[in-house]
Amino acid sequence: MAKEKQNCDDKKCPIHGNVIPRGRTFVGVVVSRNPHKSAVVEWEWKRYNQKYERYERKKTRISVHNPLCLDAQKGDRVSISECRPLSKTKKFVIVKILGKEELFAERERLMEESKVKSPKEIEEEKKMKKKETKEAEE
Ligand SMILES: [Zn+2]
Repeated sequence: MAKEKQNCDDKKCPIHGNVIPRGRTFVGVVVSRNPHKSAVVEWEWKRYNQKYERYERKKTRISVHNPLCLDAQKGDRVSISECRPLSKTKKFVIVKILGKEELFAERERLMEESKVKSPKEIEEEKKMKKKETKEAEE
């Protein structure tokens, strides 16, 4: 992967720069990225709740450095590693892209659908669907 783009002049790149990955490592999914070599990675974990004797699902979101030569995209499954503080919020760096997260696009679409819909919009959609079915019957 390192040889694909040798003109990587990112000083905060774990392969070509002066950042040494050390400490904790996690695997997560890129949920957002910006052009300033940053990305937000999210992953899910479980914690045992003694009172209710079952696991609760927890989510962790952190901002990470997205090196130029890797350039992880939204929906990518990535391996991240702790490193020295790179900026105010970034203490982790992406070290490897593990591939596309399946169902990420689908989940994103469902989230979008469930988000902003007024009752009017929903009713209109229902009407549209009824019309379509009627047309199909005729
Ligand atoms: Zn690089």
